[in-house]
Amino acid sequence: MIGLLGGTFDPIHYGHLRVALEIREALGLDEVRFLPCGIPPHRGVPGASAESRAALVALALADVPEFVLDRRELMRSGPSYTYDTLCSLREDFGAERPFCLILGADAFGGLPGWHRAGELLDLAHIIVARRPGEVPKMAPPLMALLGERITDCPADLRSSAGGRVMWIDVTQLDISATAIREQLRCDGNPRFLIPDAVLEAIRTQGLYGREQTHTLTDSG
Ligand code: ATP
Repeated sequence: MIGLLGGTFDPIHYGHLRVALEIREALGLDEVRFLPCGIPPHRGVPGASAESRAALVALALADVPEFVLDRRELMRSGPSYTYDTLCSLREDFGAERPFCLILGADAFGGLPGWHRAGELLDLAHIIVARRPGEVPKMAPPLMALLGERITDCPADLRSSAGGRVMWIDVTQLDISATAIREQLRCDGNPRFLIPDAVLEAIRTQGLYGREQTHTLTDSG
């Protein structure tokens, strides 16, 4: 089974890495692919370019062989729709391999508004990681989408390529890229919230500094 963690990663932080590790171990995933988006469809312009964000992800994953940087969303023009990404992954990995699309509960709550949302479960399972203080938002359209698909049994995930939804509680790390960008903008120190190599590269390249004003108001 392959785990898929998409995101803006603006920048990548230990919240992302920890959730990927815990879900990989809980489900016995062969690998987790990190998919930085090129143009996020549901939020403002990121604080760093797609290439810079992907380079930071590469630094963060460097020592973890089972974590893979997947750059396919950076290669496409237009918004990075998850549906298109899953179709592209199916071309590479075939129709049978189980995919586990990992989403924070915040992202999951917005799922009904996603491009071709009703078809995502045809292509992958969805694993929802609860974040600190979050109460699952189960609006009626989301309930309709889920139907009888919820399971708490990893064997159900192994037996099909997609179609099931599982909630997994992960260690509560109240870290967000928004807060990290704000710290960097205000000369704060996000050390121990992000890998040292990522912080060093941010500083060396002058990313997220005060001179960059076009992004820091968006909250995702
Ligand atoms: P921002 O603050 O800019 O909105 P973010 O920190 O939420 O960013 P994203 O790149 O938007 O990071 O997140 C990618 C995925 O990782 C999403 O599904 C999100 O819910 C999840 N995620 C982010 N931070 C955490 C965390 N601390 N714990 C668990 N999941 C997280």
